[in-house]
Amino acid sequence: MTRPNPTDRRVGITTTVPSEVIFAAGLVPVDLNNLFMSAPRPEALVEEAEQAGFPRNCCAWIKGIYAACRREKVRRLVGVVRGDCSNTLALMEVLRSEGVETIEFAYPHEPRPELVAGAIESFAASLGTTTEAAQRQRRRLEPARRLLAEVDELAGARGTASAADAHLWMISASDFRGDPESFERDLASFLAPLRAAPPRPGSLPVVLAGVPPIKSGLFAELERLGVRVAYDEMPYEFTMARARSMPLETMYAEYIYPYDIERRVARLREAARSRAARGVIHYVQSFCYRQIQDRLLREGLGLPVLTLECDRPGPLDAGAMTRLEAFVESLRR
Ligand code: SF4
Repeated sequence: MTRPNPTDRRVGITTTVPSEVIFAAGLVPVDLNNLFMSAPRPEALVEEAEQAGFPRNCCAWIKGIYAACRREKVRRLVGVVRGDCSNTLALMEVLRSEGVETIEFAYPHEPRPELVAGAIESFAASLGTTTEAAQRQRRRLEPARRLLAEVDELAGARGTASAADAHLWMISASDFRGDPESFERDLASFLAPLRAAPPRPGSLPVVLAGVPPIKSGLFAELERLGVRVAYDEMPYEFTMARARSMPLETMYAEYIYPYDIERRVARLREAARSRAARGVIHYVQSFCYRQIQDRLLREGLGLPVLTLECDRPGPLDAGAMTRLEAFVESLRR
């Protein structure tokens, strides 16, 4: 294996991990999902991965992450080996075979703070740092997480920020774009004019549940249909805003994504109730095991649910647009 260049402090991540530990180790997290989606042509990265041997019937997020890692020459990667996606394990094997150093992080089976504390301790040890140093980083990131809570409030509850902008800010909480202080400054500037702004058009509140959509045009289409995304589930989870003032082990035990569907459904129900949502759009990624949970989500939410499945990056196709329109029309009726 080629050792990472000691002056290259970047560490690729494939999903939300305790970034406080990475910062505490003097390293810089880089969320490969965000690199993938911010590429000029994300679909080209999916094709690159397929040319490198990834099957067509494999999740496009995994393929995009792989190609982003290669393109950006990221030589060190944290992979979540429990609590995320089994595809990540194979991705790590492939990247290891290409000389990338891989580091494991495992969420525990249950969201109990004492178990999460053990996971954080092992992760810190593998990066040569300590939980105490990571707890100090938690305090460093707290002001940015507080602003992210405000983004959710302004977009979801008051409708003064656009759902697309809010989504981008919230998903960036996985790595704070590598520089938490500059992230915080930019976010404060973004929020300043919105605090007194009137609500944007879009009167129909819905919850957007599921993994982040791979389709760039979804938010524009929802806005065109007069829909307000009252709660953007996973991006809000990525912000850790809910338990931002708590110790790391509590904060990451409150994070829903790695754990069971029952708690997730209960949280979604509560968010839908508090934001008066009329329906739920459940985004599912083609070839993702989480699609199996769609039935449980439908049964548990007690609201109309549209399951929207997409495969590759790019604009929404005509079929998806028609289904969205029909769903919105049915909610209005
Ligand atoms: S969308 Fe599903 S299959 Fe794809 S990376 Fe995420 S969890 Fe894994």
